[in-house]
Amino acid sequence: MSKVEQYITSIPDFPKEGIIFRDITTVLGDADGFHLAVDEMTALLDGVEFDAIAGLESRGFLFGAPMAYNLHKAFIPIRKQGKLPRATSRMSYELEYGMETIEVHRDDIKPGMKIVVVDDLIATGGTLEAAVHLLEQLGAKVVKVVCLLELKGLHGRDRIKTCPAETVVAYE
Ligand code: IMP
Repeated sequence: MSKVEQYITSIPDFPKEGIIFRDITTVLGDADGFHLAVDEMTALLDGVEFDAIAGLESRGFLFGAPMAYNLHKAFIPIRKQGKLPRATSRMSYELEYGMETIEVHRDDIKPGMKIVVVDDLIATGGTLEAAVHLLEQLGAKVVKVVCLLELKGLHGRDRIKTCPAETVVAYE
């Protein structure tokens, strides 16, 4: 397991009883932890050919933007509905309670573009599945998904089988 694990805080019974919340703000809040996390996520892209990183609002921005900067690639924000000013495409997906909709600027995605999707964490995989479908519906190819953490017991990666997913830290 990566050294990044020591910077993650586990909060029992948040946001409700029985859930262990994995808090990555303590990774960001430590200069060494933040460096290590971004560097190890960036290293997962060694040898991967791609055009841009798409980050998921909001914690995917915190890691995806510095990765894109390090690798001199464009960064494309995937945001919650209603935040992006130009013409967008959207995808809705189910949350535990209700629905969520994510959007991307349509002119950010060119057909055939190779994209890496970045978020902080894979839980059920619903958010990443929606992001992959959104980008592929616009003609892009999602070549890889990179997250800092994975909650393995929720089998989220089974929902994004069309593209390889890698994470720095995994919890059972
Ligand atoms: P999913 O769609 O179920 O995979 O949920 C993924 C999203 O929920 C991610 O964008 C995370 O930011 C958030 N999330 C779910 N569980 C946790 C957790 O334990 N810690 C931090 N974020 C979480």
